[in-house]
Amino acid sequence: MNDIRTILSTGQPGQAITAKGWVRTKRDTKNAVFLELNDGSCMSSIQCVFDAATMNPELVAVLGHSGTGAAVAVSGTLVESPAAGQKIELKAEALTLIGACPQEGYPLQKKAHSLEFLREIAHLRPRTNTFGAVSRMRDEMAFATHSFFRDRHFRYVHTPIITASDAEGAGEMFQVTTLDLEAMAKSGKAPDYSKDFFGKKAMLSVSGQLNVETHCMALGRVYTFGPTFRAENSNTTRHLAEFWMIEPEMAFAELEDDMELAESYIKHLLSWALDSCAEDLAFFDKRIQPGLIAMLDGVRSKAFVHMSYTDAVKELEKTKDTFEFKPYWGCDLQTEHERFLTETLVKAPVIVTDYPKDLKAFYMRQNDDGKTVRAMDVLVPRIGEIIGGSEREYRYDKLVENMQAKGLDPASYWWYLDLRRFGSAPHAGFGLGFERLLRYVTGMENIRDVIPFPRAVKQAEF
Ligand code: ATP
Ligand code: MN
Repeated sequence: MNDIRTILSTGQPGQAITAKGWVRTKRDTKNAVFLELNDGSCMSSIQCVFDAATMNPELVAVLGHSGTGAAVAVSGTLVESPAAGQKIELKAEALTLIGACPQEGYPLQKKAHSLEFLREIAHLRPRTNTFGAVSRMRDEMAFATHSFFRDRHFRYVHTPIITASDAEGAGEMFQVTTLDLEAMAKSGKAPDYSKDFFGKKAMLSVSGQLNVETHCMALGRVYTFGPTFRAENSNTTRHLAEFWMIEPEMAFAELEDDMELAESYIKHLLSWALDSCAEDLAFFDKRIQPGLIAMLDGVRSKAFVHMSYTDAVKELEKTKDTFEFKPYWGCDLQTEHERFLTETLVKAPVIVTDYPKDLKAFYMRQNDDGKTVRAMDVLVPRIGEIIGGSEREYRYDKLVENMQAKGLDPASYWWYLDLRRFGSAPHAGFGLGFERLLRYVTGMENIRDVIPFPRAVKQAEF
């Protein structure tokens, strides 16, 4: 391989090579021209040095067109570099212009741009140091996810994106239809979903959990990793309309097993970032979130604190004046509450368990107190909730009761209920928001900056 990552890590002085990439900067001095060449294979660029004394007019002309952003190939010999921070550089002899980049109108010149501005040029932002590093980290975390679950004998299951059971109940859904909305509006008639593509109302999935449970009751240990959709009208730095979620589900498992899995998984991801993504992480630590590396390193060596919802609310009530929303038993924990628990009180990740049943979904296992369910949320500093999970209600009668109490029609969940009728077993799982995890490990503040093409309210340009 001759990508720049390989050249920089294994190249030897004296070796003849050709490097292809995009010019980051070009600098002219009296004796030489310096090109910083980057191909995205790693954060670092290779420095290419053209000796002014040996340049012919043709090379001078090509160099003239090789400004920032141009795609070029440079051939020459690797030499030890006198410059600080790099072992080798390329003593360049030949240059081919592959794709010129007119400087006029090219938005990525040398000056640094704000993240807000870069969001408006999402098609070009992967070429910056920040978004290059984010993209590589996203890939690394996806890979580390698969390797973690594979090592623990979990199978990757692809759950559907379109769902016709308006079942999941985890927030507002997007509708999927081929009905002619404009014609319907003109005629003033109500939609007839029996004429719609699926013969009934269909939506984009908010979670793969209900579907993945079918495979949990067959393969034992499974997970999904795919896009999910929520039409949340919330313009926050934590919510997207389209985001990726990892949802493991384990058979013959209870809440304790679920918490152990969640903690091990997060620690595995942090360790992977620290051990295998050092160069990009150093960039985030220096430019985005000072202290990031020490923080991540601290988290991986300490046990997560466990706390019941009831105890958490008692703690919150002690300092209730500091909150905009006053905490009380039965309230949904707000981000300010979550962040207080993990950042101020415990100063580490916290797992809050046993929430009031009214706050949580119908499929969570009820505790014997009749008031709470075997739920767990993992809260981490800076982010708040990163994981939501639970032990599932595996008893048929209880599950039907929960549905009815929440005003759901058991008939429309017939296949889900079948899992409780035929060979039901205790099982547990959770959902980790992939972009929230990426905010955590990169230190990036806005969730729109850790997904290549963010979809949020009024935002779907690219
Ligand atoms: P929150 O209360 O923080 O909005 P939630 O309780 O609605 O989240 P769950 O239904 O528990 O979320 O989803 C599981 C995980 O998916 C969450 O812990 C979070 O990491 C992530 N998540 C949920 N909604 C979004 C969203 N709109 N954008 C990005 N990630 C999300
Ligand atoms: Mn949740």
